[in-house]
Amino acid sequence: MAKALSYTQGTFMEQKISPLYVQTSLAASLTLGFQSGSFHRNAKLKGLNLLLHYSEGCSGRCHFCGLSRSRREGPKGKTFIRVDWPLYPLEEIVERSKTKGQIHRVCISMITHPKALEDTLHLIQRFKKETNLYISILITPTLIHGKNSLDAMKESGADRVGIAIDAATPELFDKLRGKGVGGPHRWDHYWGVVKMAAEVFGRYCVGIHLIVGLGETEKEMTGAIQRGQDLGAHTHLFSFFPEKGSPMEGHPLPPLDQYRRIQLARWIINQGLGSAGQMRFDETGKLVDFGVDVHPLIKEGEVFMTSGCPGRDGKVACNRPYGNERPSGPIRNFPFNPEPEDIEEIKKQLRME
Ligand code: SF4
Repeated sequence: MAKALSYTQGTFMEQKISPLYVQTSLAASLTLGFQSGSFHRNAKLKGLNLLLHYSEGCSGRCHFCGLSRSRREGPKGKTFIRVDWPLYPLEEIVERSKTKGQIHRVCISMITHPKALEDTLHLIQRFKKETNLYISILITPTLIHGKNSLDAMKESGADRVGIAIDAATPELFDKLRGKGVGGPHRWDHYWGVVKMAAEVFGRYCVGIHLIVGLGETEKEMTGAIQRGQDLGAHTHLFSFFPEKGSPMEGHPLPPLDQYRRIQLARWIINQGLGSAGQMRFDETGKLVDFGVDVHPLIKEGEVFMTSGCPGRDGKVACNRPYGNERPSGPIRNFPFNPEPEDIEEIKKQLRME
């Protein structure tokens, strides 16, 4: 358990820090009515994403992340997974979320900070007591040193956890999140926590986040998805987007055909329709054969929707509208069912017309 710091209630209010203040995604801010505006193509947010906030920030140094210590801050402050994260009082967020039937789930993202664990438990308890939302925690494995903290989250009311492995290989992880950037995170520990979390929360009540486009091959990404599946964790897929001011601001987005193939591979593995071992790759590591007929999957379209924790209807609640791309498109993770014209576009992107 994280050691409590001696903050007083006054400090939280004055400095606007967690647990009394938390950041929300821009989508959550719009949905809760803190800001006005609507989503492109009328996408509906079903999962409320929250982020702990401290004046010291996150002590991680992940090269691709908008919250990284090593990032130059822009005029509007820091963004995280592409969008702004405005700060609001927890009280207001809890009150407003009670009135929004479209929201099924809340997700609390820890950051790497000594108070994050303690404050996460506080937030879980508040939401459990005062709302009927399902609760996910995007945990920071670096702060987890045994099952006790995971048990405490579960007992407080969380039903799922996510673990942002992000980089698909140990080399990339080390280079972008670990020793390579003087950061605190370690590959083996992260996977150890995935295993532990599946034991505490149950198989497939754990999700891993993986980001396509950090420099891995398709074979390596498929291998990481399979590793998660074998440990009891589904993959929630992200497409790399260069955060302005982050050390990777000049790194390119992964090509669309690559992202679409990985979406297909993820679906096949996580739905148990096949495995990475049955897929074939060329000498550059590009996926050339999925081992199953993908045409019906492409036609159906759900494969290309955002992957994340489910809601009351069993469908993905964490649909993060436009968290991965500009609304002007092309859409990488669809926050709604793709329309027939979207499917035609996807076929072109896959060069499968
Ligand atoms: S998929 Fe969404 S709800 Fe689940 S842990 Fe990740 S960010 Fe949270």
